[in-house]
Amino acid sequence: MTAERLDGKRVAAEIREQIAVDVQNFISAGHSPPCLAAILVGEDPASQVYVRNKERACEKAGIIGQTIRLPASTTQEELLQTIARLNSDESVNGILVQLPLPKDGNQGNGFDERAVLDSVDPLKDVDAFSPVNVGLLMQGRHRFLPCTPHGIVQLLHRCKVPVAGKHVVVVGRSDIVGKPMAMMLAQRDGSCGQETANATVTLAHSRTSNLKQICQSADILIAAVGVPEMIRGDMIRSGAVVIDVGINRVKDRLVGDVHYAEASEVASAITPVPGGVGPLTIAMLLHNTLNAARLQNTPGE
Ligand code: NDP
Repeated sequence: MTAERLDGKRVAAEIREQIAVDVQNFISAGHSPPCLAAILVGEDPASQVYVRNKERACEKAGIIGQTIRLPASTTQEELLQTIARLNSDESVNGILVQLPLPKDGNQGNGFDERAVLDSVDPLKDVDAFSPVNVGLLMQGRHRFLPCTPHGIVQLLHRCKVPVAGKHVVVVGRSDIVGKPMAMMLAQRDGSCGQETANATVTLAHSRTSNLKQICQSADILIAAVGVPEMIRGDMIRSGAVVIDVGINRVKDRLVGDVHYAEASEVASAITPVPGGVGPLTIAMLLHNTLNAARLQNTPGE
């Protein structure tokens, strides 16, 4: 079997086109263009690339993308003050703090990342990391969906991969990807899209026993571990759908958490790296920024 390639780039382009139209309609209705403020602390090269990509994507969608660049020597207090200023700035609809924060930041003491993320106004929390937004997601009444899992939900839906009643194995339990992914696919009420809910989900991690057997039982296998090509062909059931979230740089090339060549011999469909999940993450960030602007222009919110 040679797996179908699930083209995240194409799906992301479709979503971004629709967002650009929706943004124009929002502006035509008399609103200011949505505005996303990204805070970048320090000089991490990968983070600089991510932030630049986000700026470009905003521009193409008609969203104002501003980046607040702070030196690694910024203190925790200064960072919190910057966030407080953006929280109260009515022209800013979405705020994101680019992670990871530099380990040597805050005058060499490192940042309290949790306190930083918690300080973002939940109505502007377009990454959906704040406890309020995580809680709403848990209860199936989300305000914002976290960008990477939401991108995967969109990909499955738009590529017509049935999810209801299927066994989904998510490998990795981070707050950013694995945990919310499992939660979204297991939702009863389909608040994240009926087609992409009602799965039976197993959430695996580094302490899971019999990982291979568990992966082999998946109809849909989602890998978000950060270990290059860890998921081998013999861990995948014939005909399974494989979603590779991993982005790992190995000798100047990007590889996923799944061994692509082996997996595509067994799976029925698979996301490539790059060009799979990555482009969808940015598309869903734009979606959340427009949503934030709408929410902030809705009386009573
Ligand atoms: P984290 O490092 O926060 O979490 C990794 C998870 O994988 C942990 O739960 C860890 O388990 C688990 N894990 C690690 N090693 C193993 C193992 N050998 N067997 C089973 N489980 C294991 O990573 P993220 O979730 O932030 O990111 C995961 C990957 O996805 C990375 O490559 C990252 O670059 C990529 N990524 C891609 C995005 C995109 O847009 N495409 C967006 C975000 C991330 P434990 O909890 O027990 O330690």
